[in-house]
Amino acid sequence: MSEARAYGAASPTSPLAPMTLTRREPRERDVEIDIAYCGICHSDLHTVRGEWGEGAYPIVPGHEIVGRVSRVGKKVKKFKVGDLAGVGCMVDSCRKCPQCRKGLEQHCQNRISFTYNAFEQDGVTPTQGGYSTRIVVDEAFVLKIKSGLPLERVAPLLCAGITTYSPLKRHGVKKGSRVGVLGLGGLGHMAVKLAAAMGGKVVVLSGTESKRADARALGAAEFVLTKDAAEMTKRAGTLDLIIDTVSGAHDVNAMIGLLAVGGTLVMVGASPAPHAVGSFPLIVGRRAVEGSLIGGIAETQEMLDFCAKKKVLADVEVIAAKDINAAYERLLKSDVRYRFSIDCSTL
Ligand code: NAP
Ligand code: ZN
Ligand code: ZN
Repeated sequence: MSEARAYGAASPTSPLAPMTLTRREPRERDVEIDIAYCGICHSDLHTVRGEWGEGAYPIVPGHEIVGRVSRVGKKVKKFKVGDLAGVGCMVDSCRKCPQCRKGLEQHCQNRISFTYNAFEQDGVTPTQGGYSTRIVVDEAFVLKIKSGLPLERVAPLLCAGITTYSPLKRHGVKKGSRVGVLGLGGLGHMAVKLAAAMGGKVVVLSGTESKRADARALGAAEFVLTKDAAEMTKRAGTLDLIIDTVSGAHDVNAMIGLLAVGGTLVMVGASPAPHAVGSFPLIVGRRAVEGSLIGGIAETQEMLDFCAKKKVLADVEVIAAKDINAAYERLLKSDVRYRFSIDCSTL
């Protein structure tokens, strides 16, 4: 066993505070990672504040983890000490069910071990995430990170990157595809960069006028202020795909109206409040609304390799551990450009 410094929440109403974690001794196939950076995902905030249901406290969040391998178990094949490594939203799954066998571990039909606020495969050991100095994970769930990249900008790919890459890829985005990205935050800005890198023509749909110039710099062709009725009307029926990354309640019907016939709105934003979706916007344009949950391990590696090749990285504001609570408040005000990345040496 080894100790790790961490930041976590003791209850849904307490701010995150320093704490100490115990990490297991690496088993035969385990990789121990000294964490360099961990991104702050809005899911961390939803979880620690109990917005998605009661959590198992204390919770150390964080699932956008990059660092260096410090120890390996004797049967580890993919990594050696000193290698760069990444961990995303999952640290294990049953690996036997039909979904796991298809590389869709995130849809494991038995037990999925999310990186925090979940249990290891033994069903009793709580998982604790990346706002910490060290983590121990089976190599099957550890990703390879190419060297020479700024790690603070790689970390957010492990969730924001794969969550947006997966539906863009599944919908075959290519040159000429018309892709709307709703909400320009951590996921949204990755969706813009990735869709543009695939050749898509990206339209940012945002509630924040001050992000207009950024949208273009990120690779979008157009920016639409969603509260401007005239701008919205002009775009009606023009998009093949919308990636909806909004973290709270919003008017989904207005967005569905922007889809062309046969278009799809992919819900990745996980608002705790349900949405009212009207029948008619769907029926008249034979449109679809679907969900998407992160991506499998093989697909996450594919996304990391795609990003390295296409030079896609997150735009980050690096923060020290003491600033995590303030960062959460800023996240709630859509005041992030575009991901907070914690320097874990400050924990
Ligand atoms: P974020 O950085 O806070 O970005 C969300 C963006 O949505 C904001 O920047 C803002 O963009 C817009 N927004 C926020 N509240 C809004 C509201 N009430 N109405 C309209 N627009 C609003 O969050 P994130 O880390 O990207 O995460 C986004 C959501 O995805 C969260 O719910 C998170 O839990 C979820 N998520 C899901 C998955 C998955 O696998 N499905 C994975 C990761 C995260 P503008 O200023 O441009 O309007
Ligand atoms: Zn996340
Ligand atoms: Zn499974």
